[in-house]
Amino acid sequence: MKIKRLAHIGVAVKSIDEVAKVYTDVLPLQLASTEPVGELRTGFIPVGETSVELVMSTEPDGTMAKFIDKKGEGIHHIAFEVDDIDEAVEELKAKGVPLTAEKPWQGAHGARVMFLHPKATHGVLIELCQYPEGH
Ligand code: ZN
Repeated sequence: MKIKRLAHIGVAVKSIDEVAKVYTDVLPLQLASTEPVGELRTGFIPVGETSVELVMSTEPDGTMAKFIDKKGEGIHHIAFEVDDIDEAVEELKAKGVPLTAEKPWQGAHGARVMFLHPKATHGVLIELCQYPEGH
């Protein structure tokens, strides 16, 4: 497995519009794009080679809404960009690392993503993502 960079830090929020103000009004950053992903909406705030990804639920009882009910808003996951997600997933399975799904699925920005189960990572939800060529 080759990890290229820390792609983003995912932050669970109730409202992208509200929370983005912290980054755009308090800090000198920009909300570059927002995008629906299944029952979620994501907003990307680029910072050099990486981004802050704001993630909100569009369903009142969605996964992210439940996370916020339990733990409040805040850091949810960190994402590493890999060059080959299928190879990475095979490698992790061979090592017996628990994953949150059987196969990679489609995330924001056309990326294919997989999460390592936080019970295998001492409490940090780690996302691996592979972006399409030329992204
Ligand atoms: Zn993410």
